Amino acid sequence: MVEKPSFFEKVNTDFDRAARFTDYPRGLLEQIKICNSSCHFTFPLKRDDGTIATIHGWRAEHSHHKLPTKGGIRYSTLVDEDEIMALAALMTYKCAIVDVPFGGAKGGIQLDRSQYSESELERITRRYTYELIQKNYIGPGVDVPAPDFGTGETEMAWIFDTYATMAPDKLNAIACVTGKPIEQNGIHGRRGATGRGVVYGLEEVCNIEEDMKPLGLTTGLQGKSVVVQGFGNVGYHAAKFLMEVDARVIGIIEIDGAIHNPNGLDVEKVAAHRAETGSICEYPDAELIETPNAGLELACDILVPAALENQLTRENAPRIQANIIAEAANGPTTPAADAIFRKRGIMIIPDTYLNAGGVTVSYFEWLRNLSHVQLGRLGKRFEDSTQRTMLHAVERATGYQFSEDERQLIHGADEEDLVNSGLQDTMIRAYQELRETRMQHKNKNDDVDCRTAAFINAIHRIAQSYMQLGIFP
Ligand code: GLU
Repeated sequence: MVEKPSFFEKVNTDFDRAARFTDYPRGLLEQIKICNSSCHFTFPLKRDDGTIATIHGWRAEHSHHKLPTKGGIRYSTLVDEDEIMALAALMTYKCAIVDVPFGGAKGGIQLDRSQYSESELERITRRYTYELIQKNYIGPGVDVPAPDFGTGETEMAWIFDTYATMAPDKLNAIACVTGKPIEQNGIHGRRGATGRGVVYGLEEVCNIEEDMKPLGLTTGLQGKSVVVQGFGNVGYHAAKFLMEVDARVIGIIEIDGAIHNPNGLDVEKVAAHRAETGSICEYPDAELIETPNAGLELACDILVPAALENQLTRENAPRIQANIIAEAANGPTTPAADAIFRKRGIMIIPDTYLNAGGVTVSYFEWLRNLSHVQLGRLGKRFEDSTQRTMLHAVERATGYQFSEDERQLIHGADEEDLVNSGLQDTMIRAYQELRETRMQHKNKNDDVDCRTAAFINAIHRIAQSYMQLGIFP
């Protein structure tokens, strides 16, 4: 197997492996797989020191079978057309797997953000948005960006503001981008959504005894040792929520080094230390591993790559000592590494399923923006008083007096409660569908791992949607 097929080729290889287990016409499969449109543009940036730099930006819309298309915008030196098309394709499959009604897209700007000032980044982001508007690559019903590697709420606010200034439909302009700050029509729970989704997904995976036994693991996340690669938005939140459910985060890997403590790291303290010193490396309550990649090889139950693509390769795969690889990043495992892990009986929970929490909550944000009402706002107080009335009725009927602590649990759902419960339900349902597909094929002795099962489900859902258009038989 070639070690370095392009990223988009890798995604298509995974697609083809799954497509063999379906019987759709070849033309339909080709239509699903192909990237519908992509666009590369350059523009000049007048830098703070007066020099002129050329900025390269891309946006790819992989599939228009559902509109709008949806996907993040990343700022990284690795950005190029192939990467953006691959990531856009992963968005298509991801949305289908968790049944979020969007096509897939992705955008990016090729830059190292540490080399630019805040005001340069603002000018770049606004100009990039302007280019998207000119090319009809953004709009609430067209294509809706979101944060990704190297971007966050601030960039999304600039995108919204630039779009809103020029939008013909001012009322719905707020739905042109998701992952916005709360004060700019964002939704509670979006910031931590991908990490939270990773943990909801892993809880579901680890609760199935039949699947844990062959890995030599007990059920449940409690007590499981975890190593997280990447301490950005996704890695930090995944680690934080893993700690909240009593998993043991024993290693955190960053670009400048890894830290290890077999008894478990306090994720919040590590984050506070990084905020203070700029790095996790000198964190006092851990051993420092100077070569970050060596951190990937620590013995653990679950390895969570939450950084960039192509981190687990033919070279390091034989030395990985985890039982489960939980792909919080997009495309962290090369095809050669994937084959090695399958042979070694390591369970891979694929990116297309496991990191779909971000886009799921983006969907909730988009709905909230279009409906112009905060989730839970209409029903919260009513729900609150109904529950209190029930509580009093139970007290009267049984003579039991609820304690103050029990009383505190009674409240109507607010936005974050609804977002988290919608996210949890989405992750559980999608995993059950994925596992069901895997089991069906296992019964036929087909070699279908979780990644392939996830792709099979995505292909079915997208194919159904094309077939309803009457284009294909
Ligand atoms: N960038 C995230 C992802 O790769 C989120 C995309 C979105 O919310 O649209 O899934």
